[in-house]
Amino acid sequence: MEVDGVSVSPDHYINGQRVSSSRTFEDRTPLDWTWKLADVARGTAVDADLAVAAARDAFPAWAALSTMERGVYLDRLADLIDRDVEKIAHVECLDMAMLEESLKLRVIGRGARNFRAYAELARNYAPRRWSSNGTENTVLRMPAGVTVVITPWNAPFMLSTWKCAPALAAGNTVILKPAEWSPLTCSMLMDLVDEAEFPPGVFNMVQGMGDEVGAALVRDPRVRRISFTGSPETGRLIGGAAAQNLVPFTAELGGKGPFIVFADADLEAAAEKAAVMYDDGGQVCLAGTRLLIESSIREEFVNLFEVATKRHVLGDSRDPATTVSPLIHPEHLLRVGAFVERARNNGDTIVFGGGLDRDDGLWYQPTLVEPKSNDSEIVQREVFGPVLTIQTFADEHEAVELANSTQYGLSAIIYTNSDERAERLGTQLRAGTIWVNCFLVRDLSAPFGGTGISGIGREGGDYALDFYSDLKTLQIKEGTTHG
Ligand code: NAD
Repeated sequence: MEVDGVSVSPDHYINGQRVSSSRTFEDRTPLDWTWKLADVARGTAVDADLAVAAARDAFPAWAALSTMERGVYLDRLADLIDRDVEKIAHVECLDMAMLEESLKLRVIGRGARNFRAYAELARNYAPRRWSSNGTENTVLRMPAGVTVVITPWNAPFMLSTWKCAPALAAGNTVILKPAEWSPLTCSMLMDLVDEAEFPPGVFNMVQGMGDEVGAALVRDPRVRRISFTGSPETGRLIGGAAAQNLVPFTAELGGKGPFIVFADADLEAAAEKAAVMYDDGGQVCLAGTRLLIESSIREEFVNLFEVATKRHVLGDSRDPATTVSPLIHPEHLLRVGAFVERARNNGDTIVFGGGLDRDDGLWYQPTLVEPKSNDSEIVQREVFGPVLTIQTFADEHEAVELANSTQYGLSAIIYTNSDERAERLGTQLRAGTIWVNCFLVRDLSAPFGGTGISGIGREGGDYALDFYSDLKTLQIKEGTTHG
């Protein structure tokens, strides 16, 4: 099958083979909803069973390889991704409408970096050793087994590789289930897995609906790790399935991050960065969607923010001039619009935006809402669209209180000129990642995840390799002779 001149398989990839399904689902582009990109295989419990069986069979040999040997496959895959960045970026832009320029320059290449970084980290593992109670203790990592990775529709290629890379590097075999709203680039990844000559069954992928093939995968008792990124609602369901089989799982879930601006900050830089929250239609879990502004600078900040926001160009994500992409799906557009309507009905003030940008597409206007109170739904629930709220605070204490007042805890952004304040807030804010005077700067060795309903567990660096391993303690009595 061809998608705008690029070859993409609509099928699953199981045991090194393409496998079709009797049923399919339609995949359309948010850039033009009348354009059907593909009819994609709609997996069932039978496909889930096949994939788990293949991964189970492939596990012993893959787990027995050294980290050096597994790293050769991961590095080879990284090179192939780098080779195909443009093609993958183009298809992902069509599939989920993220800006093509940033996909090309940053997002897809991050997929290659994910594989390289984890190959390197696994190779360099230095087991922790210490003496106590007359024994020499050593912590060893054992590959855990079959791993299911379930990912959301935003940035599907990057987010999937972020989880599959450490799972494979740790010696696990993997089944990836991409989201049904953007299934294509994970399928392209499987062509590269094939070209990199991974042994059959080591890295599999099934396409389909979450409540069908996804649910079948997570309830399979042969699965030994589950890694999920998506909404808190689905996270609860998957957590329930993991609990039934006593399987460790990580969940990277939704966010409602605060974007806190203090009067001592570089206000222009803060306003410019705040306007970036509308990029990609605001469909970014890490976005700081609650603007919390020190009262004394509210007016000045809002003026600067409006100027920065007006520079946004809503348009076709393939066009380098575009900065705000359409929303992923008509259902999602309705959901975002309904949030704003409920805010209006609640008596919250729509400062700007608050409607469709044009009648013939999935673009929603960059929107700013001033809530009636901190309890307003628009403050407390993730919208996952180009909708920000604005509130003010009198002092640092109130800023922290507002920032920590939702059930989420994924990220926080602070603009201040005081490193002492930054350190103080760093300890007080409830969030997995806190950026000060910057946003989306990532070091792959840092722990990543959320607190509250933003997630369970941490991935990133050694934290991920530990999660995908069974840690084992070896104790040898001191004085045991060598050899
Ligand atoms: P979603 O929860 O609807 O779906 C995510 C995945 O789960 C999809 O592949 C879906 O098919 C699958 N799924 C659904 N029901 C399932 C079930 N019963 N069993 C197994 N799998 C099932 O989320 P979404 O709408 O695709 O993504 C948006 C959400 O993801 C937002 O809340 C966003 O904040 C979050 N997200 C979080 C991060 C993070 O790193 N924390 C990153 C990106 C997105």
